[in-house]
Amino acid sequence: MLPLDRLCRGAEAALEKDPSRALVIAVTTRAIFNLEEEHKLYLEKGKEEYTRHQQANQDKPLPPGTAFAFIQMQYKTLTLTAKEPLQRYCTHASLKESISSQAVQYVNKKILESNPAERDLFDILVLSNNSPESGVRIINSAKHYGLEISKFCFVSDEDSTQYLKSHSVKLFLSADRTDVCNALRRGRGVPPDSSLLCLTGVSAALVFQQEVQAPSTPLRVVFDGDAVLFSDETDQIFQEQGLEGAVQYERAMEAIPIGEGPLKAFAMHLGKMRKKFGQEKSPIRTYLVTARSGRDMGIRAIKTLREWGLPIDEAFFMDGAPKGPILAQIQPHIFFDDGLHNIQGAQNVGVPSAWVPSCC
Ligand SMILES: [Mg+2]
Repeated sequence: MLPLDRLCRGAEAALEKDPSRALVIAVTTRAIFNLEEEHKLYLEKGKEEYTRHQQANQDKPLPPGTAFAFIQMQYKTLTLTAKEPLQRYCTHASLKESISSQAVQYVNKKILESNPAERDLFDILVLSNNSPESGVRIINSAKHYGLEISKFCFVSDEDSTQYLKSHSVKLFLSADRTDVCNALRRGRGVPPDSSLLCLTGVSAALVFQQEVQAPSTPLRVVFDGDAVLFSDETDQIFQEQGLEGAVQYERAMEAIPIGEGPLKAFAMHLGKMRKKFGQEKSPIRTYLVTARSGRDMGIRAIKTLREWGLPIDEAFFMDGAPKGPILAQIQPHIFFDDGLHNIQGAQNVGVPSAWVPSCC
């Protein structure tokens, strides 16, 4: 029997999924909901006051956070346009009627339509440092928005990432940088206190609270290349030898795939789902938006994706140009990048974005 301060509870109506086959995504409460005011209260007045506040407001749904659009998608909106901020959707009285599915649930539905026996499905887990007492508001908020979450884990340990491996988590989204760094170090026997420069543990990214747009289907996921899908080997050459050195390195290494980056494992799982569908009817679309130039540094990137067997629907080689305009056009449910200037550019156009720190 688990002690009450360390509780991992399956949702009542959740389908049983096989964690060894499912694409398990763990999100923290501050990633999926906007808990900034409550977090401030926690920091300023402590855990007891925070718990009291959450209990007093347990029936008041929390506003959506940055990762909300990724988990829950609005794909059949009759009353609002896709340009309006998601927060307005979610406070709108007709929201629950107009939401037809979660982003990942929509993909699950499409997969099961083509094969009812399929077990490669999305599975969402909420991981929280809230106590079970203050967690009631989290569960009620998830119910309010109709989020299909299979497990809620309320753990008191400071490093909650120790539970990622036992739940076979393939992607971890958190609003806490230490959490993200700990996750990136896990999974391949790297101790959490290690200071390795190349992190290749559980795919993980940091989300900042931001205003986001409400994307429509299909589920669209955008990856940066270097230090996200790929290792940062070419970035390091660029830092040491400049652009000319990096171009020469790429030419010399053209036949050799680039090393694995921190989001490769998640991208491969997503790609496995993507391969179940043809290009036109796929409920998932994947994108590469990289600062690399196509002429000098594109070939090795494309060859690497081919070598990995990773399907990418569209690739944009930006040659150092800002990514914001193309992201505004793609309107992804989530964008992963290791460059904070690119994250800022995505936030400026309302694109939900997640930062992958290359060094922790
Ligand atoms: Mg990069």
